[in-house]
Amino acid sequence: MSFSLIPDYSFGKLTDIDVELLKRSGIKLLLLDLDNTVSPYGEKKPSDEMKSWFDGMKNEGITLFIVSNTRKPMAGVFARELGVDYIIRAKKPFGKGVQRALAVTGFSEGETALAGDQIFTDTLAANLANVTSFLVEPILLNYPWLTLRYWVEKPFRMMAKNDLRRQRHE
Ligand SMILES: [Mg+2]
Repeated sequence: MSFSLIPDYSFGKLTDIDVELLKRSGIKLLLLDLDNTVSPYGEKKPSDEMKSWFDGMKNEGITLFIVSNTRKPMAGVFARELGVDYIIRAKKPFGKGVQRALAVTGFSEGETALAGDQIFTDTLAANLANVTSFLVEPILLNYPWLTLRYWVEKPFRMMAKNDLRRQRHE
């Protein structure tokens, strides 16, 4: 367990994560934040691009699992559309969401990564749970509070151990 705000890897968007990196790193379970990682706030359905990325990962034998802090039942609609299991009200960074996903799927911490767009919830949750932390840029900064939080997180984004971003919010 590490109380660290530094991501192991940083990507422009979720769909930039490719299966080769996961296989090289021994990652078999990819936990996913929902809001602004899979879909922007307020969207009702996943995009076609996101659906085909999910299908591609699953075809390569990667298990995908949504771990969201949301309280909204809409998360279930997304999970069904994308054909994955999910946990809502996960209370990242301190909740037991990651451990519950590991227990349900049977994968070890070393076989698991958590991808999300927020340093103080997703990256910290991954590092506390001893799974690989993948940070992505938020899909859409469509509210002032999202932009503010993004800038507070910026120094930690810059410190990612492996910065694989091609797209950035400047
Ligand atoms: Mg998020």
